[in-house]
Amino acid sequence: MDKGFSQINSSENIHVSATSLERAQYAKAIIEMKYSKKKKEEEDKFEEWLQVKKRMEEIGLSEYERRSITEDLQHEEAQRLREKRTAITVYDFEPLTIIGRGAFGEVRLVRQKLTNKIFAMKKVSKSEMVRKNQVQHVKSERNILALAENPWVVDLAYTFQDDKHLYFVMEYLPGGDLMTILIKKDILPESEARFYLAECILAVESVHNLNYIHRDLKPDNILIDGNGHIKLADFGLCKCCEINYDNPFANLTKLEENKVEKIQMEGFHRSRKLAYSTVGTPDYIAPEIFGKSGYDEKVDWWSLGVIFFEMVVGYPPFYSEDPKLTCQKILNWKKTFKVPRDANLSKEAIDLIYKLVCDKEDRLGTSGAEEIKRHPYFIGIDWKNLKNVKAPWIPTFQDELDTSNFDQFDEIEPFYPNTIKKKYQRKDSNFVGFTYKRSDGQRNSLISALENLESVVPSRFSLRISREASETENY
Ligand code: ADP
Ligand code: MG
Repeated sequence: MDKGFSQINSSENIHVSATSLERAQYAKAIIEMKYSKKKKEEEDKFEEWLQVKKRMEEIGLSEYERRSITEDLQHEEAQRLREKRTAITVYDFEPLTIIGRGAFGEVRLVRQKLTNKIFAMKKVSKSEMVRKNQVQHVKSERNILALAENPWVVDLAYTFQDDKHLYFVMEYLPGGDLMTILIKKDILPESEARFYLAECILAVESVHNLNYIHRDLKPDNILIDGNGHIKLADFGLCKCCEINYDNPFANLTKLEENKVEKIQMEGFHRSRKLAYSTVGTPDYIAPEIFGKSGYDEKVDWWSLGVIFFEMVVGYPPFYSEDPKLTCQKILNWKKTFKVPRDANLSKEAIDLIYKLVCDKEDRLGTSGAEEIKRHPYFIGIDWKNLKNVKAPWIPTFQDELDTSNFDQFDEIEPFYPNTIKKKYQRKDSNFVGFTYKRSDGQRNSLISALENLESVVPSRFSLRISREASETENY
């Protein structure tokens, strides 16, 4: 981020701002990556064509058949390249139902006109991002989603931008989010909570392995796929509330203490409105994030501890109608945080909560996720096989357009920008490098052709598209 610092380049003795230096390094890295990638793509393609040719000979296709298959493939390849060159815009998508609304924009179901495929599109206002100083955060979100080919992270197909907005086009997860489940069920039995917590631990571990910290884990950022398993979303949009740090350890007012008791006595009624009205809710944020002495990936383990508490106790432990008070309660957790007796939790669950919601020095996970996985609460969990376990709740939906697991939202602004579609858009320097297309799956039309050939014409020869094999053969 631009901090306005400057730095001396010793060899030439010129002042270069930290930002320019960063930009130059970034540009260099991108160019190098592009060139090496392009070369590799060409080599791969050449190999794939050889494979196709060889395969066609092996299965004894006639000259005519071979020519016609080759022509078809060349045609497909040309189309793919054309598609790759054209910039994606919002006009390539047809708007369907809105499924989420947050601090910076909305998420809706869309249909890609060219392919008829359904996606979830998150639209984020650039001016809001700049105003709330979140430009860096939106970039991290794009980076992690684009980088992560990770079964625990929502898959990103494209990102692009226009004058006013940034767009993330993602796979659509029809089960809603963990908040939906908590609204429906109120309190989860420990066995169900254990499933979600265990999946979250694996998901967070996979993100940490990529050197990212989520920092904004909360039930509405934990999405549920068609089989009831979780995936993480909403990376980098850290929506921390602005608090006055002057007196963070101020005791809660009597009024506030009474309110906490009231929640416990009368029952906490979770609602979607609550989740959205307190957008930027600090409920799940670790105390060290508010401090000045730095923090690390352990903040995510704190958040999971808080989410776990909420799943099994029925309300978030630091809840307050006023986010500032929530922040104070978090900072003052040693006095405010307690697992209520009447929640009737197992002693393992209570122990785990206290080992996650605690000082970062004592927190489980300090030496990695394994430490958490070994906690007695998880005895019997098959960590390697979790994705294949039957989820406690499997969403029901009629078809790919069904959004019944989401709340309803009013349309508040038109989907298409009301500016005239411009051929050349001026680039906004804040968001250079944002645009992205997932290229795998597109690239491998030849590989899929090979696979098709395999299935259409059963072969005496086993064909595996193995690079090693083709490398050892001399064409
Ligand atoms: P925000 O930054 O506004 O919180 P999120 O990325 O968390 O944005 O999205 C807001 C809500 O939209 C989520 O809580 C979830 O309910 C829904 N949502 C987001 N992405 C998807 C997706 N890929 N599939 C299904 N629902 C999604
Ligand atoms: Mg969110």
